[in-house]
Amino acid sequence: MTHDYDEGHGPPAIRRVRARLPRRTRPRNPEYLINPNLLLDPAGGRPPGGSMAELHAHSIPRSRDSGVQPDVLVAQAVTRGLDLVVLTEHNALWRGDELAALSERHEIHVLAGMELGTDLGHILVFGLDHYSPELLTMDALRTIVRSEGAAMVLAHPMRPLSSGRKPSWEEIADRFEGIEAVNGDHGDQADGYYRRLAADLGVTAVGGSDVHSREAVGRVATAFPEPVTEMDTLVRLLHERRAHPVDLRPPVARADHRRPD
Ligand SMILES: [Zn+2]
Ligand SMILES: [Zn+2]
Repeated sequence: MTHDYDEGHGPPAIRRVRARLPRRTRPRNPEYLINPNLLLDPAGGRPPGGSMAELHAHSIPRSRDSGVQPDVLVAQAVTRGLDLVVLTEHNALWRGDELAALSERHEIHVLAGMELGTDLGHILVFGLDHYSPELLTMDALRTIVRSEGAAMVLAHPMRPLSSGRKPSWEEIADRFEGIEAVNGDHGDQADGYYRRLAADLGVTAVGGSDVHSREAVGRVATAFPEPVTEMDTLVRLLHERRAHPVDLRPPVARADHRRPD
């Protein structure tokens, strides 16, 4: 085990070397992850008569990499002033009765999609009623999404993949209803590149916070031109390309601050 000496402790030789070295700098979390009150009000991005949704959120225990309980997550969505939360656990789906109970407890619409770890990266799906391992293969997934009338969105296309390959532009245009043009773990460092890409490819651009903590809820949202209270409406609007991402992070926090996997 290596020991990291505190300043002023440890052998004198090490102290002398330390004194000449610049202090180690560590990437800091953006301040809104300590104080989510710094996030912008979703009301400013809500189209008249429309709604603002969190489309990408993970809770424990269904997503083991998350640190937030579903009730805390949903309560924070209410605090943030969102109209809808869609829970998108990793390769797992919430039951309808559980969603109804959450929705009733917190008086906000709660729906569930999934984030599938496929051979073409992470894919958000909306409108499927169960999880099965065959959904992790793109060809099978696309067939099922078509036959079930669901919709799929390529998650965080700006993130490098640890395995598999990224879909080509042609595959995105052919097979996806949308791409997550703004993801909460990434700054919009490409200056709207992924929004323009979505427009060029003829798919819907959405935004998602990729929630793994309470503070991250509603840092990025998707705006819809009408209220979304049911999955059918969400899927239809994604097919109709009637949605757009809204970045609610304070401008200073938009620099890239990717969460390590
Ligand atoms: Zn992901
Ligand atoms: Zn995710």
